[in-house]
Amino acid sequence: MDPQLSNGEDYKYIMATSIGSGKGIEVLPDLYCHTIQIVNIVLVGHPNSRDFVLIDTGMPYSAEKILAVVEERFGVDSRPKAIILTHGHFDHVGAVIELVKHWDVPVYAHELELPFLTGVSSYPDPDTSVEGGMIAKMSSIFPTDPVQLGSHIKSLPSDGSVPFLPEFTWIHTPGHSPGHVSLFRQKDRALIAGDAFVTVKQEYLYKVLTQEQEISGPPRYLTTDWDAALESVIKLEALQPTVAITGHGLPMEKELLANSLKKLVDDFERIAVPDYGEFVDQDSD
Ligand SMILES: [Zn+2]
Ligand SMILES: [Zn+2]
Repeated sequence: MDPQLSNGEDYKYIMATSIGSGKGIEVLPDLYCHTIQIVNIVLVGHPNSRDFVLIDTGMPYSAEKILAVVEERFGVDSRPKAIILTHGHFDHVGAVIELVKHWDVPVYAHELELPFLTGVSSYPDPDTSVEGGMIAKMSSIFPTDPVQLGSHIKSLPSDGSVPFLPEFTWIHTPGHSPGHVSLFRQKDRALIAGDAFVTVKQEYLYKVLTQEQEISGPPRYLTTDWDAALESVIKLEALQPTVAITGHGLPMEKELLANSLKKLVDDFERIAVPDYGEFVDQDSD
């Protein structure tokens, strides 16, 4: 066991939840999405096999919950082959240290995200001034310090393959964070989008509470590069996914997904980019 495994110094429980919290949705027979307070984790693998992977690790102090979800779906003492992180924000690495201690499994992320996962760099402070609602305003309390995964974190292979998920490829979708990735399976065009785009207006507390389904760009208070974020959404739309599990909000599929993604690409400036905020170029039109 790696002695240096640790959470960031500002690790803390965040009191925010949605009506979806604690609920799971089997999106496809081998694709299961479960909501931890306000963020989704994904389990990829058939429930009757012991061969599965966990994508993202929920909110701080959610390890017990995640262990229970995994054991309910895959059996007592089951453990994933690996954990894949779409990115390293606090709500996606919340339980990663505890889970790695418990399972002793490797964790994979994009190499540009590694500084935030090895104790090297903190993320920029969330932008509480950004156009948006209550969640944006309370985002100053969100942890930004890096976790320390030590020798457990590895770079995703440069050839686009995803360890232990041979049918998937990873796609670099930066903008929300530098090393953000999404996962795509060509066979059924299933997409695990992370926060490249989400299906709920994550800045607004009441929309998060009710999980009202509505296509949205990446959560605003943490997104630092809006040009890259648009390029990433264009990349994902071009894949014509038939179903998408996003980091926040309910899974979206078929016509609604296709139409919503097209709308997001065509009207990104209006739908996704905030009218004002620290990371918005005030001079551009
Ligand atoms: Zn994020
Ligand atoms: Zn997120």
